[in-house]
Amino acid sequence: MFYKVSKEDEYLFQGKRKRLVELLKSKGITNANVLSAIEKIPRHLFFDPTTGRPALIDHAYSDKALPIGAGQTISHPYTVAFQTQLLDLKAGEKVLEIGTGCGYQTVVLLEMGAKVYSIERQKQLFDKTKLFLPFIGYNSAKLIYGDGYKGLPQFAPYDKIIVTAGAPYLPNDLLIQLKVGGIIVIPIGEGEVQEMVWLKKTSESTFDRKNLGNFKFVPLLSSKSKT
Ligand code: SAH
Repeated sequence: MFYKVSKEDEYLFQGKRKRLVELLKSKGITNANVLSAIEKIPRHLFFDPTTGRPALIDHAYSDKALPIGAGQTISHPYTVAFQTQLLDLKAGEKVLEIGTGCGYQTVVLLEMGAKVYSIERQKQLFDKTKLFLPFIGYNSAKLIYGDGYKGLPQFAPYDKIIVTAGAPYLPNDLLIQLKVGGIIVIPIGEGEVQEMVWLKKTSESTFDRKNLGNFKFVPLLSSKSKT
């Protein structure tokens, strides 16, 4: 079910990860914990295995979005690094992730010491990732099959919230479930391109806001998929 890696491949991938980290630094990623998480995590294991070894070797550590099954993609490493850096994460913080996908971003958060709650609406992807993360040694994330627009009120409030699909608007439930002092990073916009939005909750009803450039995400869809 999952891609099997030889020792030789693992050395090759380690070298490629180091070069990816250099690339991310050259693009402006400075957070040492983000960079060391990316240097450590075997991104090549997260793809749809039907893409095959040549595709993995060529693309797993280049700055590309790639298929993870069910018509979804893993985000570019730069996008993952940029969003994570914006969260200004401290070890032990409680993070809500919307859009688990293949779990790569989830694992970046875990490597940074976060307590992670992650919601996925696609049943197929949810089932796969729920098996996959423990398989590669990550047991502690709480993965939920559900609709990210509603957040996860039973474990709120969260120190940080990260949305990894393009939202047409700011979901009110997520703003409510964020702690005062907390940060949400969310790509906003309909159509091809979204604006990366950073919000810090300064009181129950006020936010500081920064718009941080254009990115391309798959859309945040409403409600859970049936299959
Ligand atoms: N963080 C992921 C990115 C996956 S792409 C990774 O590292 O792989 C975005 C994901 O958001 C997709 O898996 C998609 O199914 C999911 N998604 C879209 N709308 C959603 C919603 N309303 N609630 C939860 N997940 C959603």
